Amino acid sequence: MKYKLLTPGPLTTTDSVKEQMLFDHCTWDEDYKKITRDITDKLLNLAKVNKDNYVCTLMQGSGTFGVESVLSSSIGENDKLLILSNGAYGERMADIAKHNRINYVIYTEDYNKRHNINKIKDILKNDKAITHVSIVHSETTSGILNDIEEIGKVVKEYNKIFIVDAMSSFGGIDIPVENYNIDFIISSANKCIQGVPGFSFIIAKKEEILKCKNKARSLSLDLYSQWETMNKDGKWRFTSPTHTILAFNKALDELNEEGGVDKRYERYYNNNRLLIDKMKELGFDTYVDNKYQSPIITSFIYPKNANYTFEEMYDFIKQRGYAIYPGKIENINSFRIGNIGEIYKEDIIKLCAIIEEFLKGVN
Ligand SMILES: *Cc1c(COP(=O)(O)O)cnc(C)c1O
Repeated sequence: MKYKLLTPGPLTTTDSVKEQMLFDHCTWDEDYKKITRDITDKLLNLAKVNKDNYVCTLMQGSGTFGVESVLSSSIGENDKLLILSNGAYGERMADIAKHNRINYVIYTEDYNKRHNINKIKDILKNDKAITHVSIVHSETTSGILNDIEEIGKVVKEYNKIFIVDAMSSFGGIDIPVENYNIDFIISSANKCIQGVPGFSFIIAKKEEILKCKNKARSLSLDLYSQWETMNKDGKWRFTSPTHTILAFNKALDELNEEGGVDKRYERYYNNNRLLIDKMKELGFDTYVDNKYQSPIITSFIYPKNANYTFEEMYDFIKQRGYAIYPGKIENINSFRIGNIGEIYKEDIIKLCAIIEEFLKGVN
């Protein structure tokens, strides 16, 4: 049975992206190194950075490997990290810090609230040991979008290193990395660039990646070494995910053909708002307030008096061509619908018609 994914990565990709994976590419020669170099170059263009100041490194593994690579390679033994968390991916940063014995503090907000800027300032003022600040841009847990531009200003006002997990936003939301004062930003192949899973990428300020030399707590996730090898001529330190790379390169071209990040954002945003409006008509409220709602994924509150289970609704929808996502908010019964990937207006209309049909059947 075929279905489209309404999950925020892996997501539905085009056939033309998938077709790239029908070829077994060799890795040692100039052809392949050039593809790696092209990809890092295109990513730096998307990040709108000056290429003298910023570098791009690809890292095997899923998105978490990229986040762990940055945290474990950039934060030294005498450094301290402030994690701004309002979701499971912020909490995962704390988990990474624990595993790597990184000194950290965490400022946690409710999953549908943004951080208080004055409170961030107070923490930075009072805890002089803090050297790095990290945050998730688009919290895929709830669908909230954090204001990294405003927070970046505060981080630099206090001269700290700024780390952003932009896993589910990079490529789908414009992020001028240099203007936003970001030192390290992480995303992965299978989110808004619409590739398949297999690696993450890190765009870093050159000055800061140079400081990572000999700091890494792990060999395979050593960001400096990975960059140093890749930067020479496009070589990967260890086996690269060749098929994923070929697919990703095609996905980058397709992003360009769509009209770039702004056009993709427009598609995501319009589909997301259409989804929210139609779901509201069907009786589903959102967990995150509209003004903080990302165009990536939406948490819908499960109706209190519902006489059906999520699994029943999920199966009904899946049999008709779409896979939705369970909720991930503690103490709140919810479910999520993502709208990134090869998803268009007609998909949203079809999905909502399926949900309407389901509700008629159970009521
Ligand atoms: C997808 C995602 C990650 C990485 O998750 P993996 O399962 O390791 O790919 C990290 N942060 C956010 C915000 C994400 O959406």
